[in-house]
Amino acid sequence: MEHLREPDDIVALAGGVGAGKFLRGLASDTGSFTVVVNTGDDITLHGLHICPDVDSVVYALAGEHDPERGWGRRDETFRATTELRARFDSPEAWFNLGDLDLATHLFRTDLLRRGATLTEATAALAGRFGISARILPMSDDPAPTMVETVDPDTGAHRTMHFQEYWVRRGARDAVNAVRLDHARVAHPAPGVLEALAAAPAILICPSNPVASLAPILAVRGIREELAAHRDRVVGISPIVRGAPLRGMADKLMPAAGLEVTALGAARAYEGLLGAWVVDERDRDLAPLIERELGVRVGITNTIMSDDDDAAALARFARGMIA
Ligand code: GDP
Ligand code: CA
Repeated sequence: MEHLREPDDIVALAGGVGAGKFLRGLASDTGSFTVVVNTGDDITLHGLHICPDVDSVVYALAGEHDPERGWGRRDETFRATTELRARFDSPEAWFNLGDLDLATHLFRTDLLRRGATLTEATAALAGRFGISARILPMSDDPAPTMVETVDPDTGAHRTMHFQEYWVRRGARDAVNAVRLDHARVAHPAPGVLEALAAAPAILICPSNPVASLAPILAVRGIREELAAHRDRVVGISPIVRGAPLRGMADKLMPAAGLEVTALGAARAYEGLLGAWVVDERDRDLAPLIERELGVRVGITNTIMSDDDDAAALARFARGMIA
């Protein structure tokens, strides 16, 4: 099942949808590469082990993603979830699980129940989707990202799973803190540190710095590995003109003390970056970022409207390695 790898794969650190778009570009520009994916979003619902970011990356690389909806499978239907809601009044049906997507969760959960690690189950899944890149979860240990919230109506304080905050509550609560306690004690998945140590380039995908990348960087040893090879680390800003291109990164960055700009996103990786790629629409921020963070800043189009844009961006990011 495990592919024989070049020892010197490029490594990309990835969230879900933003990362998936970028990785399609990387795939057309590079031969073999390794992706380390956030699993802080993972959640068990209906007894099924759901890995939203791993699945977004797998679906994108397989060309099975839905580019319009932005998440999930193309040609998806939601009959099972509709039935769970309407007939069974399921308390867990707040999460939208497409029918094709459910097959993925059944396949993964079955492997895990029979003793596979998440790393093994992920490799099997990627294999079934015909993906040649190596896709590694950040950890085989459960590492749910938790969010400390304040209900805007009642003022009640709660600590909830990231997905509950994001999907069930639609990010409507005020966020006091994003807690990565589980990620901090999680061990990196087998191969992650070795891949980072050997990588000629480590690319930080244009992903949510707080919800997607911070959990990966919190896992034991990963941050240290980036800091040790900082000259090979290139990040791409997910923020253009002071707003995320998609999603709700603007809700979480302030809670982490980061302004919602290409500079604020770069600060999320302070001490870890050799270079940072910002959009040409943020050209004016480049000197400030270079001065404040001591990184080389590359300026290009970072808005990936199609695979050609993504491939050009991946090529540009790789070219930032000195
Ligand atoms: P999620 O886990 O599914 O939310 O996905 P990610 O964390 O990988 O990506 C979310 C981030 O991707 C958001 O902050 C978006 O701003 C960013 N994003 C989405 N599309 C693009 C794009 O075309 N270009 C850039 N630079 N960022 C993007
Ligand atoms: Ca995610």
